Amino acid sequence: MPTGGGKSLCYQVPAIARQQAGHGITVVISPLIALMHDQVGALHEAGVSAAFLNSSLSSEEAYQVEQRMLRGDITLLYAAPERITTPRFLAQLDRLFQSQQLALFAIDEAHCVSQWGHDFRPEYRALTVLHERYPGVPRMALTATADALTREDMLERLQLQDARAFVSSFDRPNIRYTIVEKRDSNTQLLRFIERSHEGETGIVYCQSRRKVDAVAQTLAEAGLKALPYHAGLDSKVRQQHQDRFLREDGIVMVATVAFGMGIDRPDVRFVAHLDMPKNIEGYYQETGRAGRDSLPAEAWMVYGLQDVVNQRRMIDESPAGEDFKQLMRGKLDALLGLAEATDCRRVRLLAYFDEASSPCGNCDNCLQPPAVWDGTEAARMLLSTIYRIQQKSGVSFGAGHVMDVVRGKSSEKVLQYGHESLSTFGLGAAFSEIQLRGVLRQLIAMTAVAVDAQAFNTLQLTPQSRAVLRGERSVQLRESVSQPAARKDKRSVRLNSVVKSPITLDSNALLRYSALKAWRAEVARAHNLPAYVIFHDATLAAIAQRGPKTLEDLEGISGIGAKKLDAYAQEVLRVVALP
Ligand code: ZN
Repeated sequence: MPTGGGKSLCYQVPAIARQQAGHGITVVISPLIALMHDQVGALHEAGVSAAFLNSSLSSEEAYQVEQRMLRGDITLLYAAPERITTPRFLAQLDRLFQSQQLALFAIDEAHCVSQWGHDFRPEYRALTVLHERYPGVPRMALTATADALTREDMLERLQLQDARAFVSSFDRPNIRYTIVEKRDSNTQLLRFIERSHEGETGIVYCQSRRKVDAVAQTLAEAGLKALPYHAGLDSKVRQQHQDRFLREDGIVMVATVAFGMGIDRPDVRFVAHLDMPKNIEGYYQETGRAGRDSLPAEAWMVYGLQDVVNQRRMIDESPAGEDFKQLMRGKLDALLGLAEATDCRRVRLLAYFDEASSPCGNCDNCLQPPAVWDGTEAARMLLSTIYRIQQKSGVSFGAGHVMDVVRGKSSEKVLQYGHESLSTFGLGAAFSEIQLRGVLRQLIAMTAVAVDAQAFNTLQLTPQSRAVLRGERSVQLRESVSQPAARKDKRSVRLNSVVKSPITLDSNALLRYSALKAWRAEVARAHNLPAYVIFHDATLAAIAQRGPKTLEDLEGISGIGAKKLDAYAQEVLRVVALP
């Protein structure tokens, strides 16, 4: 089930039902220690008895939780896999098992058990102890991302081969997918945010720690509330940045993939990739953190030649076995195919998860079908230049030099090696460097050109080059679109932009909405919880629109259950009466 699709409800509802039927406790296995506090807090807000056991508790606090668990006072207990498999914890589970008070094991983020998934955690492998030691206790495994291979591996590793499988649609219709050619990625990013996401919460993914720091600084200098997040930061700083992201509005988190698993802030309005992920699962999961509240959100990525080269090199240089590398190359190729696609992105994305669909109308290619040009001739010039250089000089050269020769630029290096005398010199003078770069990127993506990382990223022909050289394979490229101009009257993004509502409100309702948001922020602070745990934006907007005067007026608004009505109705009525 996709992120934001209600995955947690799939075990929370059975947990409550089974507890009420006298079956005892549900144990939720989750790798996300840093987020357990908020998950449990959200359950408390909804009136459910829940607790967590992890290393953030003192031994006295942990003891209290254990006692409550053994007394049967807890409906849902969250713990990390390494905690579950300790002798101490297993002894406690033994007691619950003997008194038939183990209702359910819910294994969240279950793709972590598979090394084919993108977030392998070895400690998940030990979870087979659960069914061996506690036969008959129901188990369920949940994930928001798994291709067919990972899915199969999950079933086998967790020995759930006989279990029923429920696969819901992976589609996230409210997310708009856009992939653009990388030019000056910082400027492109700033324009993207200014144009459509000013003052909104978002995540920007970069590959390296250094780049994360640099981009966060650039955004901060432009007036955005940007924070860095990567494994190289002190753990206290990291936790603090995550807390601010969850609790404050309008934070842009610039992060490596170390950030985000289990982040369930519902109103992340955009996820931007400044570097390409390793595969479609990674891309899908990272972009899936946008728009969990089902309101419009954007997944935006810039992608260029260097991304292809880097990702290929990382696979080639990894210490893994050849089989594994081959698999990773295949997964990377699928993502390259998505990036180079000139047809609907969503159709491609869903097809990767074995789901058939039709053009979505909400991706860049659907909204603005790209003009396509035939790059076959340029591709043949590039390939034959690579061949001729190798013939003449006995060594290979990098992309820049090859393009110089094709475009007929008499650079120092060209003259030094006498490459101006090659028969292809200047043949492609009519092509721009950007066009040739695009052609080269496609050639690399279709493995008609190899990049030798061991030899200064020089370009080599491959067995696949021949078909292109002979004109048997064509190379189709999207026309580079000129960049939309930056907004003229503004240099930087304002810090405190106006309150944005998820639905259109008249001015009175907007006043009520602002007042409700301010009130919610106070309550969230007092409870030490993220604001969305109290009420979602969409719920506040619905209240603001209705302008309730009595308790009855609040009925039927989505997101206000009995417990919340009890806890907050009077205050909400007071707040909306104010303006
Ligand atoms: Zn589409």
